[in-house]
Amino acid sequence: MRFDILTLFPEMVKAPLEDSIIKRASDKNILDIHYHNIRDFSDNKHRKVDDEPYGGGKGMIMQPQPIFDGVCHIKEEIGEKPYVIYVSPAGNLLNQDKVRKLSENKNITIICGHYEGVDQRIIDEIVDEEISIGDYVLTGGELAACVIVDSVSRMIEGVYPMRNALKKRAIITGF
Ligand code: SAM
Repeated sequence: MRFDILTLFPEMVKAPLEDSIIKRASDKNILDIHYHNIRDFSDNKHRKVDDEPYGGGKGMIMQPQPIFDGVCHIKEEIGEKPYVIYVSPAGNLLNQDKVRKLSENKNITIICGHYEGVDQRIIDEIVDEEISIGDYVLTGGELAACVIVDSVSRMIEGVYPMRNALKKRAIITGF
């Protein structure tokens, strides 16, 4: 299964996903996790990614152009449109049923928001689903992206060795 994470802080996402069970699954090529810095897709010479909200509103939001281009780049690399998630406190609440459903996708792209979130046109035009990891507000989407990758990965055959060992034991012992 492939995950692509679009973020302003790739190092923040890499740390928990390049250790322990998720790292071992990546080393075995069961998982394929790609980290993309949204600034790398900015066509602004200062790599600016924030802007005032289109149509007004308070605070700063993330410009649509770098995120659109980032998702297009991923789509070209994969050769098909990935399932695109925007992590948001206003999204569908993540639970084990949702995790199981998400694990049926071959390719998941996660957009991590910052500031007051992303431009609404991103949500309207390229996001398949907004997902919240809980009824509270984080400073950014990076921790939420890690929670989704970790919980969904655990559902993939071969990622969680103990689960497979227990399954084998259940077959042998009948428990
Ligand atoms: N007023 C903004 C809103 O309601 O979306 C708050 C933005 S928050 C400071 C910055 C980013 O953190 C959001 O764009 C989102 O990507 C992420 N985030 C915050 N809380 C979250 C949650 N509970 N679940 C998932 N992502 C969250």
